[in-house]
Amino acid sequence: MNADLHCHSSVSDGTLEPEAVAARAKANGVELWALTDHDEIGGQQRAMAAAHSIGLPYLTGTEVSVTFAGVTVHIVGLGFDAGDERLALGLAATRGGREARAREMADELAKVGIAGAYEGALHFVGNPELISRTHFARYLVESGVCGDTQEVFRRFLVEGKPGFVPHRWATLRDAVTWISNAGGIAVVAHPARYKFTPTEEYALFTEFKAHGGRGVEVMTGAHSAADALRYADTAREFDLLASRGSDFHSPEESRIDLGGLPPLPGGLKPVWEALTSQIHAPG
Ligand code: AMP
Ligand code: MN
Ligand code: MN
Ligand code: MN
Repeated sequence: MNADLHCHSSVSDGTLEPEAVAARAKANGVELWALTDHDEIGGQQRAMAAAHSIGLPYLTGTEVSVTFAGVTVHIVGLGFDAGDERLALGLAATRGGREARAREMADELAKVGIAGAYEGALHFVGNPELISRTHFARYLVESGVCGDTQEVFRRFLVEGKPGFVPHRWATLRDAVTWISNAGGIAVVAHPARYKFTPTEEYALFTEFKAHGGRGVEVMTGAHSAADALRYADTAREFDLLASRGSDFHSPEESRIDLGGLPPLPGGLKPVWEALTSQIHAPG
């Protein structure tokens, strides 16, 4: 099953409209798709309608920003009721601090000689509530400060660099609870990205399960082949469902295109097998 259950549209920090992401997924052979915009479900109706019109089975999705042990962790939610009010309110609260944070980021960048970054980043933003580091990265590439977005993150936008502003996102408990109470499954996104110590990582998965979390991304654009095998072991150890998603953002920036990941390693329980009743099947 070519399931791609993690990607972004212009409703968060992707560059394509939800309809264009749907069309690209279909063209690339995706057989089950979820659009997982950051802290936002405002694109879900568009994604579902587009998927329906081109015969692409669809699961609702989002990617919630969480602060755990002082680190930003992403929790993907799949197969929830997109009309759930507590989920919508929780995500709105999570989005709330982004504008102030972006203004602070711009102030910090101005101190190192990069003027007008807030206005510059806004130029790339599709959803004003969702201004993100990605939009700053695109501005710094466009204005010639850096050659590509990877370089921008390395030099400016990660902890310890001049444009990084620490931020407190949702709690792990809240994010997992919002998703689960809306009938969905919570999944730890791209675990290799966090660089946790084994103890911190054990705490993450233990607490995640205690709050009702059920899945982990094993195959993602952010994982090496070795990472995938390592988190396949984590899935078995913690009895978690395994997910697969490219984390596609843009044809120019994404290492893995929609539908372009290898299959899940053997011996895992695919998350979509626990979501069959939530799949929106075409026609
Ligand atoms: P934010 O939610 O504003 O903190 O932005 C996080 C987003 O920045 C992620 O969802 C990625 O799209 C992007 N991002 C984070 N780290 C990197 C990186 N090292 N290289 C490229 N993009 C990154
Ligand atoms: Mn992103
Ligand atoms: Mn993420
Ligand atoms: Mn993502």
